Amino acid sequence: MNNLVWLRSDLRIYDNPALFNAMSKGPTVAVYCLTNEQWDKHGLSQIKRRLIVDHLFELEEQLAKLNVPLIVIDCALFLNVPQSLAGLCRDLNITNMYYNHEYEVNEKSCSDSVVNQLAQLNIECFGYHDQCIVAPGSILNGSRECYKVFSAYAKNWQQNVSALARPLYYKPEPQAELALTSDISCLKNYLIDVDIQTKDQWPIGEDEAHDRLNEFIEQNVSDYHNSRDFPDLDATSHLSVYLALGVITTRQCLQAMVSHSQQDVELLFEVSGDGARCWLNELVWREFYRHILVAFPKVCKGKPFKDLTDNLPWKADNQDFQAWCEGRTGVPIVDAAMRQLNTTGWMHNRLRMVVAMFLTKHLQIDWRLGEAYFYGKLADADLASNNGGWQWSASTGVDAVPYFRIFNPYRQAERFDPKGSFVRKYVKELASIQGKAIHQPSKALAMQHGYPTPIVDLKIAAEHTKALFKNLNVSP
Ligand code: FAD
Repeated sequence: MNNLVWLRSDLRIYDNPALFNAMSKGPTVAVYCLTNEQWDKHGLSQIKRRLIVDHLFELEEQLAKLNVPLIVIDCALFLNVPQSLAGLCRDLNITNMYYNHEYEVNEKSCSDSVVNQLAQLNIECFGYHDQCIVAPGSILNGSRECYKVFSAYAKNWQQNVSALARPLYYKPEPQAELALTSDISCLKNYLIDVDIQTKDQWPIGEDEAHDRLNEFIEQNVSDYHNSRDFPDLDATSHLSVYLALGVITTRQCLQAMVSHSQQDVELLFEVSGDGARCWLNELVWREFYRHILVAFPKVCKGKPFKDLTDNLPWKADNQDFQAWCEGRTGVPIVDAAMRQLNTTGWMHNRLRMVVAMFLTKHLQIDWRLGEAYFYGKLADADLASNNGGWQWSASTGVDAVPYFRIFNPYRQAERFDPKGSFVRKYVKELASIQGKAIHQPSKALAMQHGYPTPIVDLKIAAEHTKALFKNLNVSP
């Protein structure tokens, strides 16, 4: 009997249900399908593509220690995946195929096609819920439907997590050596040039991710609730990239918190302190958006969660959009954040909300353009969280910010970057301005520093946006 484990957003050895179960049943080979066309079609960021490739090189080495060969197939087209896997299964006499579920519409339909195609070869397929601590669909409200309010979902999640979360899978024991060797030669064609500093922020490998998790828990988690909103403090975990690639799991994050606090899971939220509670809550937000994506697949297809908001008359202003993309809006905190994104492939969560609201509520530009731009730049690009974050900010989403609560970027900057150090770091032309003036330089001061004046009047724009939502009779 030969087993195949099909890897996707689960580039790791520890706590990998598909890999563990395959290896416990017999000789196992791993496969990853490269689908460049899919990456291009959805505009996946260059940095995430490069990180996938680098993690695959690393994974090949780690799998070799378990005597599991890794075959990387260049399928080019997404549509070719089922056929390519069927061909490999035939060549290797595969009898069972193991995979972890992906929840996006295209990925799910790809899994279904693979399972159907392999069934024709009498290959049995085993799928596992892996991306969430609590599998999508397993927490429902009183009407047996998906929760649409985060706080209620989170409460139920906390009450049931110990019963619903499965234990971690161990690292599998090495299997006997197989005659087959790895073939990852096609990976070298995908070693895209990315800025080395950008790449070096995300060292490769599971050990790196775990070091980061442990360091964060030891040093930062206790004060997370106070410091997480200050972009210059570097007070968050920076684990999103590893979570998006599946190099580490949220189960492992939860388990690390359990070990650190020496509390049972059910008590974790009650007794482990405000910082820990707040951080765990962010992991629950991540799960919530995945549950929404599964229950409302329309969000994968560019549709707003609140149907009525599809009628909002977004502006088609390419000039404003370009200024936003390039960090030239004349609003320093927005520009600093966009420049952080463009130069590092990451943006602080508070600023993701600020720039998303600025684009949608002040420039009145369609959230879908912002979502796509983020997806094309972020190292942690992840459909569920990105879509969730954008629709939250645009007030088109599930349990979104009320449309009349529009962040004023100047106030946000004064509050969360009080000394202006974050703006100074990314908007170099303003670096010499002292004090509060850096956040809202006068026209004369901006011109003197070669910095643009604001492309929009915030007050007028915000009032106009509120009127647009009101006219649609959208619930806040
Ligand atoms: P921490 O503060 O350490 O949080 C721990 C983990 O919790 C994160 O790694 C992440 O997995 C999860 N998390 C934290 N905040 C959120 C949130 N608001 N929603 C969902 N999960 C969360 N996150 C992505 O992983 N990929 C994206 O493409 C993405 N796009 C976003 C777009 C917008 C407009 C907004 C407002 C948020 C987006 N987020 C996205 C969520 C959040 O900004 C990032 O997860 C977070 O900034 C990552 O930094 P960290 O790992 O240091 O987070």
